[in-house]
Amino acid sequence: MLEELKNSIRNVPNFPKKGILFKDITTLCKEPALFQRMVDLLGHRYIGKGVDLVVGIEARGFVVGAALAYKLGAGVVLVRKPGKLPHLTHKATYTLEYGKDSLEIHQDAIRKGQRVVVADDLLATGGTAKAVIDLVSQMGGTIVECSFIVELEELKGREKLTPCPVFSLIQY
Ligand code: AMP
Repeated sequence: MLEELKNSIRNVPNFPKKGILFKDITTLCKEPALFQRMVDLLGHRYIGKGVDLVVGIEARGFVVGAALAYKLGAGVVLVRKPGKLPHLTHKATYTLEYGKDSLEIHQDAIRKGQRVVVADDLLATGGTAKAVIDLVSQMGGTIVECSFIVELEELKGREKLTPCPVFSLIQY
């Protein structure tokens, strides 16, 4: 079944710029049985772990994060690109596999001591997830795990997230 999930992910060469092989999960998400399986596999990992919140990273992380939160009976929190969130925010700047960017979270999104899973579609260099870990930690949240559909192992993003636990369903 994991092989089926893996095979359903589309490879798009040279997107969003030359030299990047983009792993497109939209081809997985649009298949009902595969999407359900993906959410169930992640969900079963965290059931009973006392997860209060799933933090989804814009934009594909919203899809994964919201579905996972629903499965766990947890709340969902949005981490967004600058200027998108309407209320007071905390901000973190990070380096991407293909550029530099910032992310924001509402200042009241996480209460001290809440148990959080961070969710995104893909772990590449780890810069994005590290920025989110820093935001969640500064706000007093406890990170249960950072959870990804896809991990590009050769970029060693996992090491950047140490000592935070990291899980991925599919590795390349
Ligand atoms: P990074 O910060 O380098 O770990 O990059 C992770 C973020 O960038 C995730 O939000 C991904 O959606 C996106 N991303 C980076 N590289 C790729 C890739 N090769 N294919 C698809 N998405 C990517």
